[in-house]
Amino acid sequence: MAKTSLMSTGTLTVDLAAMAANWTALDAMSAGETGAVVKADAYGTGIGRAARRLAQTGARKFFVAVAQEGADIRQALGPDPEIYILSGHMSGDTDIIADLNLIPLLSSIDQMLRHFEALPGTSFGIQLDTGMNRLGMEAGEWDAVRTLVLPQNPKLIMSHLACADEPTHPMNAQQLAAFIEMTGGIDAPRSLAATGGILLGPDYHFDVTRPGIGLYGGLPFTDAHPVVSIELPIIQTRDVAVGESVGYGNTWIAQRPSRIVTVSCGYADGILRAMGPKTTLFAAGVAVPIAGRISMDSIGVDLTDAKDVPSHLELVGPNQSIEMLAQNAGTIGYEILTSLGARYARRYAG
Ligand SMILES: *Cc1c(COP(=O)(O)O)cnc(C)c1O
Repeated sequence: MAKTSLMSTGTLTVDLAAMAANWTALDAMSAGETGAVVKADAYGTGIGRAARRLAQTGARKFFVAVAQEGADIRQALGPDPEIYILSGHMSGDTDIIADLNLIPLLSSIDQMLRHFEALPGTSFGIQLDTGMNRLGMEAGEWDAVRTLVLPQNPKLIMSHLACADEPTHPMNAQQLAAFIEMTGGIDAPRSLAATGGILLGPDYHFDVTRPGIGLYGGLPFTDAHPVVSIELPIIQTRDVAVGESVGYGNTWIAQRPSRIVTVSCGYADGILRAMGPKTTLFAAGVAVPIAGRISMDSIGVDLTDAKDVPSHLELVGPNQSIEMLAQNAGTIGYEILTSLGARYARRYAG
């Protein structure tokens, strides 16, 4: 692969073919139609490119968190795909929902009244709370309004699972039962499963599934193809003597004559300080440890054991996954992906 050795930023490569393969695999598992969740800039991979590729691969229903993200999708995909807004219909969103034909997933009676009053006769869906207590109407609210809502032909009735990444968690069956109880006998299409819910099996799939993280190569979809790789350019090389220190706070002291390189990338690029002590980079496949604290824009790396100094080091790739970085930082792949930020040179492969 071509290296961007003239550039001082890290290179973040998004493998669109891998993303498409992940959607196709989750689609093959899904009993009904498979949507695509592309909120938060498609989990940091780039909403326009991701959405276009997923649409080419067959996705027709896209889910975003907020209306402004819906505008980005509409611009990328044109008039046909359905674009669902997970935060529903907030009062400032009416114009953008109307102008771009977005579908708010109404999560409260307030939102329902707002939508029916401001945009009567336009598309909407309903979010039900089945126990997560995050977004959605509770059973009592839904009972009070369902005879009002159902004749307006909701495009989708959905809920969200709190513990789907733990297949044996009793919450899964409880939420499934609650969803069936709240939606039994309804004609409108139903949706309960995100990536984790797809893996729980067809009982959880209903008419539409909503995978996000699995498209981008993350757990709990263990069979996912990796989508994101990151290479960092070396911007300085030095030899340090025994007893010299590297980085803020002098936390790393040379125990032997050492070759230290500085790569361009830091916690401002989502490479959290917390992952430093457990994380290595790779020089042509050889593990090379981080030396000292991760700075905002740079990281020191001990290259003493590498044969020579390459132009770039691998941070995420065949030797180290996003999930491994997440583990090193005590967090989840979702948080690493969506924290990577805007400073990388982004390339699209596949
Ligand atoms: C983020 C989100 C999804 C996608 O979840 P993944 O675990 O990333 O597959 C689906 N539905 C809702 C309501 C969400 O908030």
